[in-house]
Amino acid sequence: MSLTILHLYPKEMNLYGDHGNVLALKKRCEWRKIRTKVIEYEPGDPLPKDFDIIFGGGGQDSGQSKIEQDLLRIAPEMKARIEDGTPALLICGLYQLFGKYFETAEGKRINGANILPLATVAGPKRLIGNIKISTSSFGDVVGYENHSGLTKISKNANAFGTVVTGAGNNGEDLTEGIFYKNCIGTYLHGPILPKNPRVADFLITKALERKTGKKYTLDRLNDRIELRAHNVAATRPR
Ligand code: GLN
Repeated sequence: MSLTILHLYPKEMNLYGDHGNVLALKKRCEWRKIRTKVIEYEPGDPLPKDFDIIFGGGGQDSGQSKIEQDLLRIAPEMKARIEDGTPALLICGLYQLFGKYFETAEGKRINGANILPLATVAGPKRLIGNIKISTSSFGDVVGYENHSGLTKISKNANAFGTVVTGAGNNGEDLTEGIFYKNCIGTYLHGPILPKNPRVADFLITKALERKTGKKYTLDRLNDRIELRAHNVAATRPR
């Protein structure tokens, strides 16, 4: 068995350890004898036909501007894949740009792929610090956020979680991220997957199920160190 991870724009969209999410996916597959291939996709590259998991990290406003045109070019294919249930993890900058748009503090609008029902406008201050959210599918999830964007998800969309400590989507409505089909969009850097292994295993399970057309139960791993990291992060002050 082999899974292909499509890593979108690793040069421009990779903040606060986001690349560690790809390493976590690879490692957790390897430990279960599942082979992985990572395709690092940059603007202008041909979009591969075959991939099983989509990952995209965060980026500065300038990085988001640099990838805008290319993201709009691949938006129809990305939309088809997300709608079709391809598992995806999108952090901060690409979370914002899989929505309708991100409007910077200078009032410049960076268009998004318009796949997820959300829009983002920069607020007056950056929202920075450790964050803990409670989710119905994965229990508490911990990470680190640093964004100016205030995101509003549409009323009938499912948030990824509810803020316990931190700001989340906008610092007001207690929502954090979005959970749409098998796509998780979130502000949580850190990286999120090594210390929230249930989220990593969700993406791997969904990828295997789509690939084989069968229900899948992953072999259990000894997550002692991962859970210790989780617990340490969970008790950090904001
Ligand atoms: N530039 C965006 C913002 O500040 C995204 C930042 C990020 O990806 N960390 O909201």
